[in-house]
Amino acid sequence: MLTGKRALVTGSTSGIGLAMAKALAGAGADVMLNGFGDSDEIEATRKALETEHGVTAHYNGADLSKPDQIEAMMKDAEAKFGGVDILINNAGIQYTANVEDFPPEKWDAVIAINLSSVFHTTRLAVPYMRKKNWGRIINTASAHGLVASIQKAAYVAAKHGVIGLTKVTALETAETGITANAICPGWVRTELVERQIEARAKENNISVEESATRLVSDKHPSKQFVSPEQIGQTALFLCSDAASQMTGTHLSVDGGWTAQ
Ligand code: NAD
Repeated sequence: MLTGKRALVTGSTSGIGLAMAKALAGAGADVMLNGFGDSDEIEATRKALETEHGVTAHYNGADLSKPDQIEAMMKDAEAKFGGVDILINNAGIQYTANVEDFPPEKWDAVIAINLSSVFHTTRLAVPYMRKKNWGRIINTASAHGLVASIQKAAYVAAKHGVIGLTKVTALETAETGITANAICPGWVRTELVERQIEARAKENNISVEESATRLVSDKHPSKQFVSPEQIGQTALFLCSDAASQMTGTHLSVDGGWTAQ
């Protein structure tokens, strides 16, 4: 389905991004990975994508809090791929504190990685997509792009911003073959969430598993976590022809969280 397409997935060395990269490679797309982690593990992941799916996989370790590194990554993608057909903006971090205690440098970091990086990759990817008259921009927002929770000022602001940016991008490209959409996951048990589960376990003097059950039951009417693979398949759907008239919208995959 995606043979001949080239995808860049930011924050794809673990969690949701890695599942998205696997889903795209499974459908035949060449993939550029990005994110932090152990270099041997990243190389093994890259190689596995190539051998399991018969696609070309590259890795670029750009720090997405730095616009100059984002520009270099986009140039690298252009040099290796000719350009990016599918851009998945997925890299993200979390920091929790009440707004009056929120360290300004943490605010800046969350906004830079979770929101500004999406602006930079998008502005650099759109000209090539316009030339080809085809493109898919998929932004990993969050249930927190639609509703708020306490102690997540920067994250909630950034994710609401991502949904706004997605809509503007969609409107500006509406008469082309480019679509821009956001996916809004609820709780997915990745490293980002594991840290919150462990912190709450300590705070409430309960086991990690009890903490996980409480965390997911508090927000998801389904009382179940979303899997990274389910988000990967949602991204794949957005790349398909069936989704060519879906643009400027969001898809919630959140166990019913935002229906409440
Ligand atoms: P994760 O921690 O497993 O993955 C985050 C990825 O981003 C990793 O590859 C990491 O190396 C990369 N990253 C972090 N800082 C970076 C930087 N400065 N430059 C480049 N890469 C960087 O977490 P995840 O849960 O898979 O998160 C992926 C996305 O999904 C994030 O945008 C997150 O906000 C969003 N999300 C997650 C959940 C959830 O419950 N896990 C829910 C909704 C939305």
